[in-house]
Amino acid sequence: RAKEEGKNKYQLFTPAMNAKVVHRLSLENSLRKALERDEFLVYYQPKVATGTGRIVGMEALVRWQSSDGRLISPLDFIPLAEETGLIIPLGEQVLRKACRDTKQWLAKNKDLVVSVNLSPRQFMQENLLQTIMDILQESGLPPAQLELEVTEGAVMFNEQAALATLHELKEAGIRLALDDFGTGYSSLHFLRKLPLNTLKIDRAFIMELPTDPNSAAIATIIISLAQALHLEVVAEGVENIAQLEFLRRLDCTEIQGYLFSPPVPGPAFAELLNANQLLPLPK
Ligand code: C2E
Ligand code: MG
Ligand code: MG
Ligand code: MG
Repeated sequence: RAKEEGKNKYQLFTPAMNAKVVHRLSLENSLRKALERDEFLVYYQPKVATGTGRIVGMEALVRWQSSDGRLISPLDFIPLAEETGLIIPLGEQVLRKACRDTKQWLAKNKDLVVSVNLSPRQFMQENLLQTIMDILQESGLPPAQLELEVTEGAVMFNEQAALATLHELKEAGIRLALDDFGTGYSSLHFLRKLPLNTLKIDRAFIMELPTDPNSAAIATIIISLAQALHLEVVAEGVENIAQLEFLRRLDCTEIQGYLFSPPVPGPAFAELLNANQLLPLPK
């Protein structure tokens, strides 16, 4: 018995696991250096109103341009940034850049709203509201032009504190969106409790529209739910015209996806704003 336990203990340190720990540590170090060297870029993906075909806002999405020039996806570093707490300074950098850029672009479209993702760890930060208000003040961006995207998971973790923070943010005039709706806990409880402006339907339910009947049913229900709750509804990951037409028939207010544009660097987004007409107008 003791022998067996001993054996199991040794197995905790297999060479493969050791390599994983080393990799993690080196990634963590690289992330720290990247923050100091300002290697994080903010890309923007337009959100388009289905009614007018015009850009009404954009989602800020971080990329890491490493010293060798490679562009690294947030999926490859946000989880570790979250675990190590580095997401706090990283999130601040993203928010600061997004607010500064958006303030400039208000000259092209005064109603533009920028959406910034908040991770669960950031969300639990004691001075989150003050940090955000300071960044808004310093950039000159009106609070109503900022939307924060949170997930159900972030709220679940400490519901009372999360609700209090969300209400404070809302009271300060900042918009709130529930991100990736349908993939998390999808508890109707959150829809009732959270002071939301926007519901974002996860790409998983958009991908197989309009042919997959289950996806079609779910998308239909989520959109009518959002309408009944007087929320804006954004479909994520729209890649083709058939999906667009299906969503337009259901009066889904806004669309985000590769059909219009992938996330692009700031100057390229400014060009999209100049062009100002992305969607074919409704028939
Ligand atoms: P998300 O917030 O749900 O962002 C939407 C993701 O869907 C983005 O991936 C976007 O590029 C991708 N996408 C948009 N349209 C399409 C489409 O038509 N087809 C496909 N296949 N994909 C599409 P991205 O930029 O790789 O970001 C992934 C996730 O990383 C984000 O998911 C978000 O959870 C997280 N993330 C990105 N930037 C930040 C950030 O600044 N802070 C935090 N906390 N998380 C971030
Ligand atoms: Mg998002
Ligand atoms: Mg999303
Ligand atoms: Mg997503």
